Amino acid sequence: MALIVQKFGGTSVANPEKIKAVAKRVLGYKKQGNDMVVVLSAMAGETNRFVDLANQMQAIPDPREMDVLLSSGEQVTVALFAMAVKEMGYDAVSLLGDQVKIVTDRMHTKARIKSIDAELIRGHLAAGKVVVVAGFQGVTEERDITTLGRGGSDTTAVALAAALNADQCDIFTDVDGVYTTDPNICDSACKIDRITYDEMLELASLGAKVLDIRSVGIAKRYKVPVHVRSTFSENEGTWVVEEKKKMESMLITGVTYNKNEARITVAKVPDQPGTATKIFKPISDAGINVDMIIQNTRGSEMTDMTFTVPRTDYKRAMAIVEKTAAEIGAEGVSGATDIVKVSIVGVGMRNNAGIATTMFETLSNEGINIMMIATSEIKISCVIEEKYTELAVRSLHKAFNLDAAA
Ligand code: ADP
Ligand code: ASP
Ligand code: MG
Repeated sequence: MALIVQKFGGTSVANPEKIKAVAKRVLGYKKQGNDMVVVLSAMAGETNRFVDLANQMQAIPDPREMDVLLSSGEQVTVALFAMAVKEMGYDAVSLLGDQVKIVTDRMHTKARIKSIDAELIRGHLAAGKVVVVAGFQGVTEERDITTLGRGGSDTTAVALAAALNADQCDIFTDVDGVYTTDPNICDSACKIDRITYDEMLELASLGAKVLDIRSVGIAKRYKVPVHVRSTFSENEGTWVVEEKKKMESMLITGVTYNKNEARITVAKVPDQPGTATKIFKPISDAGINVDMIIQNTRGSEMTDMTFTVPRTDYKRAMAIVEKTAAEIGAEGVSGATDIVKVSIVGVGMRNNAGIATTMFETLSNEGINIMMIATSEIKISCVIEEKYTELAVRSLHKAFNLDAAA
């Protein structure tokens, strides 16, 4: 008998029929004698619908109220799921983040989990119930509701698996596992059978949304074996593990893209010590992550500063930067949200010269202009126009021989 945490994403619980099918599948594991903890997302599309509603109320929605709104989708699915289980003759209990004491910091809409009290869940499991926990939500010490950032139900599941010392954490989704790139935009993407926590961290950090990056960080720290697999098939998925059996590292693990990107340019900034701090400190104080930064010099006294922020923080970041630009006497601020960051990722590229050149050539052969570049030992990222996402991903996948990786 094992303790299994299973998370089902939005498309897996998109309507009553699917919720019933998932309940039946979970009961299959329960009948084998396992203790089952289920973590659910909101029905597909619900969280986006809430974001649209909020944008109709306030130009920049209040973060605390946003979390009260965003967390409501998961409340619906857990209650419906518990009803479905009961209808099938088994006992279940739905629980919200507050009840499970998933305590987070106060960073609304992207809060971090500080602690989880697993006692309540253990009690319900001992009483034979299927425990159904709302994903994506937590509560501050002041008892305000928080959410963990988009895709955060994965993090709830892995954090619960760690807190409960579960034997396994299954992440059920709408694809068969982790692929060399998004299988929904590249037909030749190949499923990866086993991937290390570190490789998965890289893929997730650069946009492979099949697993939320924070869930991978927690899985690594607490050594939780994670199995990413499809709700709609019985196929074996991808195991995210500490070490691969055969340490035959590929040159490139995968190609990723991240559309949650926006560009901001501050034009004609006085080129003086302290300017970068004046621009970037207020942004980081607002909890907004700046990713790529480039500076182009215009003669000796002026410089243009261009950087990227998450598209979801774009309006807030623009408001802050416009204020700073006026204060420091910059000429003006412009920005764009129709960009995407495309990356190639792989620990194997560490000692391989020429990889960047292949990437740039591949994009240029397709007529795609590169706006920004960032490199590290194990990744190269290029910012390009969003409309070229599919073309760029497919051509890079081919250029690095990933089409034949299986
Ligand atoms: P869920 O709602 O189940 O959490 P998500 O939409 O968050 O599902 O994540 C699954 C999606 O991730 C897939 O439908 C796929 O389009 C996308 N994806 C992006 N990169 C990858 C990748 N490398 N491997 C598999 N899926 C990927
Ligand atoms: N419902 C949330 C979202 O759409 C959390 C999740 O699905 O993981 O981002
Ligand atoms: Mg997800």
